[in-house]
Amino acid sequence: MVTYDLSEPLELAEDVFWVGYVVPNDPFQCHVYLIRNGEESILIDPGSMITFPVVLEKILKLVSLRDIKYIIFHHQDPDITGCYSTLEELFPNTTKLRYAVTHWRTKTLLKHYKWKTPFYLVDKNDWKLEAGDRTLEFVFTPYAHFPGAFCTYDRRSGILFSSDIFGAISKKFYLFAVDEEEYYQGVELFHKHYMPSSAILNYALDRIMEKNPRMIAPQHGSIIKEEMILPVVNRLRKLDCGLYLLDRENTDIYLLNKVDSILKKLMKSIIASSDFRVVLRNLFSTLKSEIPELSKFYLLTQFFTDKKRFLIEVDSENVNLKFVPESYGLSGFIFSEKLETESQEIGNIYLFSSKPLNRGQLKFLEILFNHVKYPLSASLEREFQLELLKRKEKILEEKAVRDPLTGLYNRYFLKECLKSCDELPVSLIMFDIDHFKRINDTYGHEIGDCVLKEFAKILRKSFRSSDCVIRYGGEEFLVVLKHCDLAQACEKAEEVRRKVENTEFCKEKGLSLKVTVSAGVRQVSSIDSFKEEIDKADRNLYAAKNAGRNRVVCG
Ligand code: GH3
Ligand code: MG
Ligand code: MG
Repeated sequence: MVTYDLSEPLELAEDVFWVGYVVPNDPFQCHVYLIRNGEESILIDPGSMITFPVVLEKILKLVSLRDIKYIIFHHQDPDITGCYSTLEELFPNTTKLRYAVTHWRTKTLLKHYKWKTPFYLVDKNDWKLEAGDRTLEFVFTPYAHFPGAFCTYDRRSGILFSSDIFGAISKKFYLFAVDEEEYYQGVELFHKHYMPSSAILNYALDRIMEKNPRMIAPQHGSIIKEEMILPVVNRLRKLDCGLYLLDRENTDIYLLNKVDSILKKLMKSIIASSDFRVVLRNLFSTLKSEIPELSKFYLLTQFFTDKKRFLIEVDSENVNLKFVPESYGLSGFIFSEKLETESQEIGNIYLFSSKPLNRGQLKFLEILFNHVKYPLSASLEREFQLELLKRKEKILEEKAVRDPLTGLYNRYFLKECLKSCDELPVSLIMFDIDHFKRINDTYGHEIGDCVLKEFAKILRKSFRSSDCVIRYGGEEFLVVLKHCDLAQACEKAEEVRRKVENTEFCKEKGLSLKVTVSAGVRQVSSIDSFKEEIDKADRNLYAAKNAGRNRVVCG
């Protein structure tokens, strides 16, 4: 391995020198370069007061101070500018102009040193400097790592003075990078923390590589010779740095990847599951796996009713549904999203959490719901349509088994009712209004109907909801009493008979009709013989009629 005498200026290319000072045991070395160029010599990043004595000594071995016309300040940090107030005092007092070459943003800070040296702004001079017959080109590398950061390219030597880019922090110092892997470790360490983002660094690398440099001379770390430039650049391009490290989980790419995989799962559940509750439960567990602080969510929808809203509460264990007033308000949620189809808004989803969410979590929810709200809305709509159908079906079913005049079950329901009689004792009562024909004949059918309705009401009130009260014929009513023996059934029938006897019918119509009813009661002896038992109850009813009406016959 070649060793260099670091106590002397080191010529990198013809008239281009490293004139730095290696600070013992400092992992963060700061370099100074000099381009010997006659009366228009150029000093690059003069350095701090720590390096200055040795740097000055080296400069003076190459040029006289009088010959330094340009001093490049790649940025304003003290490791670059610290010595300049002292150096400026040492310049011989001549009328010859000298320039501080920098970017306007750097100037806005450098002017506070109150140097006498006027500024030459690279951005105001077409990013070029003609120094005698030498041309320097400036490469703008904004935000790497300072807004006004730039690099200097010496066209003649092909050396690019890269300022902070390509710099390294390393325990052991080499003026020239030797081992790619070892050097890159130091480069990575420095860039990760100093460069604001990978996008910014890559922009700078693109601009630098456009110059096709033959050597890179950074302000920190080691000088990179031609063969190692591309390998280091390629590795640097892939480096996550700055913001990305702090905010790793929140970058769009990361979030989009995550949302993509979660969406796949959710879509599958939405499409495959016909049960909206399952869809909601899956949504909750998926969200919770990403955001453990999530405690529950509400889905508030105006579907299902006109006046009321429907609130679905979903937490780890349950999906609860309840109706809430139209004005129902929710508070304390940490995220909400409107659910809508193409044609209408159908509800809102509200998320609750035990802790405030961070920016990444909120962004995740935003992106996720942006996608999931449409399929979720479609799923809710489908659930609503199904519910409507079910309800219509139920209404039709109800209509088919109900008598429209009295609202009691009709004969078609008897079959259903008997199916539910799986245990004895079961008893039957057959009621028939006495001389009902006379009521019709005397007061008309409308009053007849009124008596039927009021009698039905008495029946409805007299029996348990588990008993079946059926309008069996015109003014004949059958009651099936479950878990009820003959004596209890007779007592019930007698109770109804007495109630009817003591009721004034059709008062609302301005009448006070006296009505009586007869009943035949029968206890069912076997579940399979209902038809015969109904006939027997009917026979008892006729016995009651024959015995003078307004009575109950049991047996
Ligand atoms: P009984 O005491 O022997 O039972 O005499 P009844 O007059 O009550 O019996 P009948 O079977 O002779 O007459 C029943 C009447 O009920 C005949 C029919 O016009 C009337 N009816 C049947 N269904 C309805 C109805 O839905 N509305 C009205 N208003 N009358 C009805
Ligand atoms: Mg009758
Ligand atoms: Mg009759």
